[in-house]
Amino acid sequence: MFDYLIVGAGFAGSVLAERLASIEGKKILLVDKRNHIGGNAYDCYNNEGILIHKYGPHIFHTNSKEVFHYLSKFTEWRNYQHKVLACVDGQQVPIPINLNTINNLYGLNLSSAEVEGFLAARAEDIAQVKTSEDVVLKAVGRELYEKFFKGYTKKQWDLDPSELDASVTARVPTRINKDDRYFTDTYQAMPLHGFTKMFEKMLDHPNIKILLNTDYHEVINEIPYAKMIFTGPVDEYFDYCYGKLPYRSLQFKFETLDQEQFQQTGTINYPNDYAFTRITEFKYLTGQKHTKTSLVYEFPKAEGDPYYPIPRPENAELYKKYQQLTQQTNAYFVGRLATYKYYNMDQVVAQALNTFKKIQAETNPISDENKISI
Ligand code: FAD
Ligand code: UDP
Repeated sequence: MFDYLIVGAGFAGSVLAERLASIEGKKILLVDKRNHIGGNAYDCYNNEGILIHKYGPHIFHTNSKEVFHYLSKFTEWRNYQHKVLACVDGQQVPIPINLNTINNLYGLNLSSAEVEGFLAARAEDIAQVKTSEDVVLKAVGRELYEKFFKGYTKKQWDLDPSELDASVTARVPTRINKDDRYFTDTYQAMPLHGFTKMFEKMLDHPNIKILLNTDYHEVINEIPYAKMIFTGPVDEYFDYCYGKLPYRSLQFKFETLDQEQFQQTGTINYPNDYAFTRITEFKYLTGQKHTKTSLVYEFPKAEGDPYYPIPRPENAELYKKYQQLTQQTNAYFVGRLATYKYYNMDQVVAQALNTFKKIQAETNPISDENKISI
């Protein structure tokens, strides 16, 4: 008899398996329909021996000391600050838009104070920021919005930015200094030996049994368990009874070139040309030395694996109906697909750690001794 059947061996499922097994001594069956652990953060070596991310580029960054220290139990780190250029008007310029972006694009030599004025003169006066279009128009005005955001967003989501929640483009800030890092979080680092090795260590516990290549429907009536933790798509769990929740997918095109380096930085965005949104060169992310180099192109798609929840009001409404159903079960729903949230890896880890604390509080209501220390 297993104490928990956990569906999905990504960050959400793996963190909960690890905590419940190693802190609470629970017996866990972790099931994933894919042939590997790690979920979308899975990485592996390709035929040429280059470490690639099978489901697109994954860069770890967080402001949470708790999350970083927790994951540090399972990996050493390599410091890495991700940088991105956008291909606009025939030039490659930094994104997020910063002082150098403006100076390079317009052939200017503005100071930080001057660029602030430059942007303020173009920014639109939007009283209530509701959509992804509002966010950018308010920050940089229409011309830069059209150069950097409108086309990219249309490609990525097949929606105009005006049809998406503000939170989507708000992920990309605007800077008046020369800071050209994609993220400014306190902790920015990549697992030294890759994500999969980190997951292997996390799940290496005698109480955790892993069943791969298995949809949970195949085992749910065969294997006895006390409680379920579900980290797959929430609409699938309820047999799409209110209709499908929209997700956006991607097709990845991998390429290995017989040259040491292909591009100037880890990722180059192509907001206005081509069917792909961006090209990432893995060796920047992993720090690997190799005479060849591997790239991934991302082509957005409607159909395929559900990668991105689509943040917009009607989808939030539909999710709310499924969320109400989750409250009538005794399963826990955790992760990007099960809670329909556009979460980064660290946010999913934090959500899983919080779920663990909740489970602890429910199962040991009076004892304070077992409070987790991470
Ligand atoms: P997942 O990793 O999706 O795990 C869910 C697992 O459940 C999957 O392995 C799936 O096979 C399994 N499953 C589903 N249904 C079933 C079923 N019926 N039976 C059995 N198993 C099932 N985050 C960052 O922090 N930085 C980044 O740079 C970054 N880049 C990203 C790039 C791309 C292209 C994408 C798509 C995501 C990116 N993310 C990034 C987000 C990151 O991938 C997620 O936050 C994180 O992996 C989510 O973990 P999870 O456990 O919730 O879900
Ligand atoms: N975005 C854009 N142009 C860019 C980069 C981002 O329009 O050059 C918008 C786009 O809508 C994208 C969102 O901002 O989906 C979030 O970007 P991020 O790089 O965080 O996306 P992710 O890495 O999650 O795919």
